[in-house]
Amino acid sequence: MNKRYFTLAMIVAILGVLLAGCGPAPATSRPQDTTGGPLHVTVSILPQKYFLERIGGERVIVNVMTPPGASPHTYEPKPDQLVALSQAVAYFSIGVEFERAWLSRITAANNKMLMVDTAQGIERIPMVAHHDEHTEALTPAAGDAHQEGDNLDPHIWTSPELAKVQARTIYAALAQIDPTHQAAYQANLDRFIADIDRLETEIRATLSGAQNRKFMVFHPSWGYFARDFGLEQIPIEVGGQEPSAAELAALISEARANGIQVIFAQPEFSTRAAETIAREIGGQVLLIDPLAADWLGNLRQVADAFAGVLGK
Ligand SMILES: [Zn+2]
Repeated sequence: MNKRYFTLAMIVAILGVLLAGCGPAPATSRPQDTTGGPLHVTVSILPQKYFLERIGGERVIVNVMTPPGASPHTYEPKPDQLVALSQAVAYFSIGVEFERAWLSRITAANNKMLMVDTAQGIERIPMVAHHDEHTEALTPAAGDAHQEGDNLDPHIWTSPELAKVQARTIYAALAQIDPTHQAAYQANLDRFIADIDRLETEIRATLSGAQNRKFMVFHPSWGYFARDFGLEQIPIEVGGQEPSAAELAALISEARANGIQVIFAQPEFSTRAAETIAREIGGQVLLIDPLAADWLGNLRQVADAFAGVLGK
């Protein structure tokens, strides 16, 4: 156990003692109470907050573990976030890296919470392997955001198709926790699914004219989105790291060979490599954010950005 984890384990232990020392809490504030006020739930990333609010409506108050601008691959929850968990009736995990290291402590912070795996029923695809000739991609360097575990792509929320699976899982959990409002959750779910269906139709139309289906992006967050819409992402990041000079040169040739004009980057990561490539190919860097709070509006904008780039 390293020092950081030890410190947190202590905080959790102390909290446990403090909470136990407060005596029995009034029934209205107990996490499992669902008869009165709204349900406090916790999620790992912002797009999940959108999903929860679409289905839970005013019945849910959603606490997000990864704050805007932070990367869910490397984020470390703060002690006060673990305190906030004591109010939650449910935790909705999605399979991002920090959960693996933190889920046992999250559970320990509130063992009455219902743990809901919103990735259930979803088959993850492998992270896009970088240039075949570079073995680094197969044996990632230390510090690689994706090296822990299975090297499967965690970005399942960028796919409208998979968002529907997650929405149904969220609905089932809310209906189980709060059966009194099952009908409202069902109606919200139906509306949300209809909106996603419409979004898919729109995006398909937006991208229909794109001749070039390949795009280059710093952090490969868009694998499932690309699969849904017949696109191909070429990642710049190598095993979670900035590319080396030689890898950059290879990427620049690849960008030229594929007629790529725009390099995508996202706010949570450095844009340096993307800017270098863009400069070399006489193109530009465009920021697209896979973690935006307005999930639906954001995917529509992302599709417009892709169409603008791929149509050239
Ligand atoms: Zn990511």
